Amino acid sequence: MLECCSVDFSYKAQTQAIQQVSLTIHAGEFLAIAGRNGSGKTTLTRLLMALRKPTSGDILLHGTSTKPYSPADMAHHIGYVFQNPDRQIFRDTVFSEVSYGPEQLGYSPEQIQAYTQEALAVTGLSALAGAYPSTLSRGQKQRLAIASALAMQPALLILDEPTSGQDAQECQKLLALLNKLHAQGKTILLITHDMEILAHHAQRVIVMDHGRKGFDGSPAELFQHEDLAAWGLSAPSAFTISRSVAAFGIRQTCLMEPLIRELSQKLRRKP
Ligand code: ADP
Repeated sequence: MLECCSVDFSYKAQTQAIQQVSLTIHAGEFLAIAGRNGSGKTTLTRLLMALRKPTSGDILLHGTSTKPYSPADMAHHIGYVFQNPDRQIFRDTVFSEVSYGPEQLGYSPEQIQAYTQEALAVTGLSALAGAYPSTLSRGQKQRLAIASALAMQPALLILDEPTSGQDAQECQKLLALLNKLHAQGKTILLITHDMEILAHHAQRVIVMDHGRKGFDGSPAELFQHEDLAAWGLSAPSAFTISRSVAAFGIRQTCLMEPLIRELSQKLRRKP
């Protein structure tokens, strides 16, 4: 769906923020981007959105160069959800906030109405359509930001640390929503530092390292990688525990539920 081909990017008079990054985002996948602060994650997503242009290299959308594309052109294909939902909210009601995007993209009034209602329904916000956005909880604001992105009918949704600053319940609700959208066919690109979330939800992980692509593979491959700590990451507890009890015939897993199941089965068998 999207392809970065040897992309370089530098902010004015700064060292290169992105260096020789080549990667492919396949339609329908759930992809995560991880890496230390300053490693280039946000810059990479800005490039994908055409908010910035590569200094060299190219980004292809369905095989076509995006060099002539504006951010508005890309908004038909990619929805972006900022880390801080307040940055994105500026209208008087939840409904008008969500309808802003499709209005800007020039959809007909009927389409705007239908897309807005659909986005509110899928994010569980229909009952709050008339509410003033400032009165929403942090989790509801995050879902409002997602609804605003979805109303523009993008195939790919990029979310920058969407779970940061949320309590456990809001976090679970948000992840359930992302799983639902993924099951409905959306491509999801999640920037996250949370290795538990990554283990549970991502099919593939890209690690950014000083502006370069340091790793591109499955979460299980990432957690075994010798450079994991150098990238500022650590494996989830289930992975570390299952590895340390491998000698007792426990299978390696990134997830706590299967590990607990196996351990309790093994322990039950012992006298
Ligand atoms: P991350 O999202 O992984 O924290 P960023 O993409 O924000 O990383 O930053 C990558 C590099 O680009 C860092 O060295 C950062 O200081 C620099 N950078 C980010 N935004 C700007 C900007 N607007 N102007 C100049 N340099 C920037």
